Amino acid sequence: MTQIIDGKAISAQIKDELKEKVAQMKEQGTEVTLAVIQVGADPASSVYVRNKKNACAYIGIRSLAYELPEETTEKELLALIEELNGRKDVNGILVQLPLPKHIEEEKVLNTIHPSKDVDGFHPQNVGALCIGKPGFVSCTPAGIIQLLKRSGIEIAGKECVVIGRSNIVGKPMALLLIRENGTVTVTHSRTKDLKEVTGRADILVVAIGKPKMITADYVKEGAVVIDVGIHRNEENKLCGDVDHESVAPKCSAITPVPGGVGPMTIAMLMNNCVESVALQQN
Ligand code: NDP
Repeated sequence: MTQIIDGKAISAQIKDELKEKVAQMKEQGTEVTLAVIQVGADPASSVYVRNKKNACAYIGIRSLAYELPEETTEKELLALIEELNGRKDVNGILVQLPLPKHIEEEKVLNTIHPSKDVDGFHPQNVGALCIGKPGFVSCTPAGIIQLLKRSGIEIAGKECVVIGRSNIVGKPMALLLIRENGTVTVTHSRTKDLKEVTGRADILVVAIGKPKMITADYVKEGAVVIDVGIHRNEENKLCGDVDHESVAPKCSAITPVPGGVGPMTIAMLMNNCVESVALQQN
């Protein structure tokens, strides 16, 4: 029987643990605060921002919302980030992406102080992950490690293959799997024989951005498959990068879409907010 990894339940469990931790911190006089900045009113971004605010409210994290108009200049945005960097009562700063075209994303993300970079995108945090030092880790791959651990799936010594090498999913995923003592191969659009490589994987993490591309012939019998992709199909239903129907019967465990990796991203963002307090005290 294939184990369906329940991301919804695991993320709810993490949020409940954080809620308890935040309540204890409050009793000791420490409040956790996340500043969320949105520039413009992109409807998808507004949904993500609302979900983040709701998660904060549930856990007991104070959220400060900065809803800035589309025409906000880069200079104004950078000035706001600098102000928040300097505020002792703000622990985490999150800038919702994508930003309007006239604002340089990299410049903005690099301006967030590394100790408040709860998305884990700042080069200092990426570097810390690379050399095994403490720091914030990109939320989606961090969530995948939690999904594996909390589902009783051992990573150490396993053949792990990651499809995709983006800065927010593929690369940090590979680094985290190495940290957990997996033997890791990263593949991408220039990989020569993808099926041959993925066919060796005990744990296969798929972050390609192509609906249902990974079919059963890419997967070894008994593998664990983590589907990061998220798309809407012709019937407006959500689907992943993995052809779940054909792949699931071949796996020992698999994440569904929706309800797999997706819910973990916010849970790990909340986790980073709580951890930011300790990081700032050091
Ligand atoms: P990117 O588009 O940044 O990266 C995609 C990667 O896949 C690239 O490294 C690319 O290779 C590789 N790739 C593309 N085509 C192929 C192919 N035919 N064979 C092998 N590799 C290929 O995407 P992201 O990493 O940002 O996201 C991946 C997916 O995950 C998307 O569907 C996204 O929506 C989803 N996502 C979901 C999240 C969640 O919370 N559930 C969070 C973040 C992303 P190359 O580098 O050579 O171009």
